[in-house]
Amino acid sequence: MNLSDPLKPGEVALVGAGPGDVGLLTLAAAALLGDCDVVVHDALVSDAILALADTSAEKVFAGKRGGRPSARQRDICETLIRLARAGKRVVRLKGGDPFVFGRGGEEIRALSAAGIRFRVVPGITAGMAAPAMAGIPLTDRGVNASLAFLTGQEASEQSRIDWRALVAAFPVLVVYMGMRNLAAIAERLIKAGMDADTPVAILHGVGWPDEWHAFGTLAEARDGRLQGASPAIVVIGDVVRERRPWRN
Ligand code: SAH
Repeated sequence: MNLSDPLKPGEVALVGAGPGDVGLLTLAAAALLGDCDVVVHDALVSDAILALADTSAEKVFAGKRGGRPSARQRDICETLIRLARAGKRVVRLKGGDPFVFGRGGEEIRALSAAGIRFRVVPGITAGMAAPAMAGIPLTDRGVNASLAFLTGQEASEQSRIDWRALVAAFPVLVVYMGMRNLAAIAERLIKAGMDADTPVAILHGVGWPDEWHAFGTLAEARDGRLQGASPAIVVIGDVVRERRPWRN
């Protein structure tokens, strides 16, 4: 089976839409979007990408976004199952990649348990697209041999992250959903041994019309002197110094 093969009635494709720019959509995503009955999409999927959908396709918003009323995950899974059982060819379109902080795992488990045929089309995740668009190499020969992707929602006391181990193992960190807890994350990293002068980039709305970037240090982030707004990717590490902006 090829990823771009037409969907069968009753099949669900979990499709990554990339970070927003239509040019970063995969050919498989475009093909499936253009030939489906229903698109169930997130808040982080741009209008330009939705415009590629089959003109007769129904669009169902199943948005989730920090701080806003959100469709419950269970409801989304139930919607997908109901549509598939009705014989629809369903594209479940998610921002970035479906399996990177996208809850795609829960959706395929629910589909699998319900006996529904599905496929997964990977997308370019924001944590990779944002640094590229900002001219920041995520790995750089002289700087790092590893990097970590993490969610900023883990800065609370019940954090599942071992911050000392994280700092010891990964010179470069890419934080998703980090805006609300940025100061707390910076404080944890400094306490865990990261240099307070480590450069930090906040890359907001990459690929969207209101894209902007902000730069500072970990100490500034801790002290609330470096702030941003969601959605943003935060890159922390000396690779930020190697940045060469290439867009105007
Ligand atoms: N599955 C998505 C991530 C969903 S979690 C992916 O692979 O990209 C939502 C978080 O992703 C946001 O809080 C933000 O940190 C990041 N994000 C998504 N789209 C973004 C964009 N266009 N620009 C910057 N960050 C983005």
